[in-house]
Amino acid sequence: MPTAFKNLAALYAELEKETSYLKIRDILVRFFKQIPRGDVKTAAYLSLGTVGPHYEKTELGIAEKMAMRAVCAASEELPQKVKRLLLQKGDLGDVAESLSSHGKNKLTIQKVHQTLLAVRDAAGERSQEKKIQLIAKLLKQASPTEAKYLVRIALGKLRLGVADKSLLDAFALAFTGSIANRQRIEDSYNVCTDIGWLGESLAKRGIKATEQFDISVGRPVQSMLAQRVNAVAEIFEKIPGEISAEEKYDGERMQIHKNGDRIIAFSRRLENIGAQYPEIIEAARKGITAKTAVLDGEVVAVKNGKIMPFQLLMQRRRKYDVEAYRAKIPTKIFLFDVLYLNGRSLLKKSYPERKKLLASIMRESERLKLAGGVTSARINVIQAFFERSVKRGLEGIIAKSTGPDSFYRPGKRGWAWIKWKKEYAQGMRETFDLVVIGSYAGKGIRKGFFGALLCAAYNKQNGQFETFTKVGSGFTEKDFAQLKKELRPFEIKTKQKLLRVEKPMIPDTYYEPRLVIEVLGAEITKSPNHTAAKDILKTGLALRFPRFIRIRKDKGPTDATTIKQIIALYKRNNSS
Ligand code: AMP
Repeated sequence: MPTAFKNLAALYAELEKETSYLKIRDILVRFFKQIPRGDVKTAAYLSLGTVGPHYEKTELGIAEKMAMRAVCAASEELPQKVKRLLLQKGDLGDVAESLSSHGKNKLTIQKVHQTLLAVRDAAGERSQEKKIQLIAKLLKQASPTEAKYLVRIALGKLRLGVADKSLLDAFALAFTGSIANRQRIEDSYNVCTDIGWLGESLAKRGIKATEQFDISVGRPVQSMLAQRVNAVAEIFEKIPGEISAEEKYDGERMQIHKNGDRIIAFSRRLENIGAQYPEIIEAARKGITAKTAVLDGEVVAVKNGKIMPFQLLMQRRRKYDVEAYRAKIPTKIFLFDVLYLNGRSLLKKSYPERKKLLASIMRESERLKLAGGVTSARINVIQAFFERSVKRGLEGIIAKSTGPDSFYRPGKRGWAWIKWKKEYAQGMRETFDLVVIGSYAGKGIRKGFFGALLCAAYNKQNGQFETFTKVGSGFTEKDFAQLKKELRPFEIKTKQKLLRVEKPMIPDTYYEPRLVIEVLGAEITKSPNHTAAKDILKTGLALRFPRFIRIRKDKGPTDATTIKQIIALYKRNNSS
């Protein structure tokens, strides 16, 4: 029996009420166990409120005004009435629910999914009308509860507290019978990055399915990440033998996939960002001699041959005026890895082998460079290279293991790569990537903006965001204006269950956990006011003397500094 959309709507309703992470997981397990295997893929996307893997286009292109017109058309109500109800209820999904009088329950999840894909793909002159009609048609067949969730999905606002990670837990239990398989499943997800395909494969083949995933051209893998240390000497404790120290560029991570003349570029968050960097695409087309390849590198902004700050590069993150900004802020890419070459996966090759292969398939140009570095087992050579790099205006170095097991590990923050930044070298000053979840009203000259931002770290174990600090300094006038603009779309009326906030930190405004900022701090201390690490240490941890550094649009909320990392830093700084 094909899964009825009614069942999925019932799942949404259950998840919406639930706050406990374990209960959310159990609800998902029950649901995935009971649906046919052939529906798992679609159900996985829809349970996240999306229509496909992150690396494909998932935006449906429906603004609230368009969704309002669809609600009018389906309910045959006048726009004034829908508007009035929206003002009263504050959520168009609730409005659609109250206006829906049907209860045929004929929709299946496949039908809903196909229609949403058609909405996404509607293009051309009358695309807006087409999208509205398609949604209206679905709403006409929907029961009140179904209508509520359909509208929220259409607007990209399902927000049930289900993240990719919760699904991985649910898959482990539903399809392999044991949470002990969770790590293997996550490793597979880091390689295949398609939650639907992964779920379907596990449903069909059990844990054995994890053996089937490998990198291929066109589908991004999660980026390998770096650990951090407090002193250069520590690098040598973690990586025995020869180290390859590479320049650390302060730009945006880019994974380039080349298949003949076709080049696709993915961000660290797996978004397709090629259209924003046409000069890099051209440079890769000309400068990479292999027929098929997957490459890893960092894009930076340049001016008169000099590398410019990250903030400038972020202005290139735009849909419009790409050509004008291309001339204003030119970029180049430094490549440092190759993960796939001419039909073969290189994930299990050592780093020196990969780097050699990379050099052999590159014709360097002004826009396409091989990352610079030195290889040595001597600490003073590495230290001298670090100092030269900092003098050249770079962030620092990334030390990479050169051992036989120095594989490319997708999505892993391990000790095979270690970052050593100039901020760390300057004493106990750490930077953290934190998620803005609230703000306090501004007074005096900050009236109309905010006085401070409530920032949270990510608890990977339960998927929640725990408060860690209140940032009130480091903002320029421009920062205030930009942060206000960036945060506005994420404003929410009431606290989401994913956010763990306790008195006295209750903010004036809450935000969905979406925007990541980099914050410099002086010290981590125990604090009863914050919730970071509270479950584990019995008391919260807080960052003292925080300063805003910059917005990190290249990072998503689950890329933020984790509670585990904060505890490790706290312990290290308090044990010596
Ligand atoms: P962080 O974002 O501070 O965790 O630092 C790790 C990031 O440094 C990576 O995700 C890359 O985007 C960036 N990076 C810059 N240069 C390199 C390099 N030579 N090798 C690896 N990563 C680099």
